[in-house]
Amino acid sequence: MKDHGLSQGEHAVKMKPYLEKCARREIKRKARRERIEEVQRQRTDLRQSSYKIALKRINPTDGHVELYYISYKEYLLTDVWDKLRKKILQRDGHRCVICNSNHHLHVHHRTYENCGAEDDNDLVTLCSSCHKTFHRIGILK
Ligand SMILES: [Zn+2]
Ligand SMILES: [Zn+2]
Repeated sequence: MKDHGLSQGEHAVKMKPYLEKCARREIKRKARRERIEEVQRQRTDLRQSSYKIALKRINPTDGHVELYYISYKEYLLTDVWDKLRKKILQRDGHRCVICNSNHHLHVHHRTYENCGAEDDNDLVTLCSSCHKTFHRIGILK
């Protein structure tokens, strides 16, 4: 090995912060990848099952609140979703949060965990192009 003027020990000490930084970055990257994969799994799962989302309604006969189950596709056609969608669009100023476009906006689920009873933080406005990119390659540019 060529002599760089540093002993092996000194070299290791010098490299340590750099290697630690790489390791931290790798951990972050892995966590992010796992989070994205989890969302993709939830999405596939939702799309394949026909009755997964629980919504509340009032039973007209006894006036009690009851749960009923619908598919994700049906859910996207409900008033509940429509209202929520509009609220998120308004919050994000009718702009894609990634590229700022105001054309062909979609409201994207960051997680499908609370589908039917979403938290505002579960949803974000994306244009169709950024949305497609996300679901195709799993990352937002
Ligand atoms: Zn989406
Ligand atoms: Zn966009």
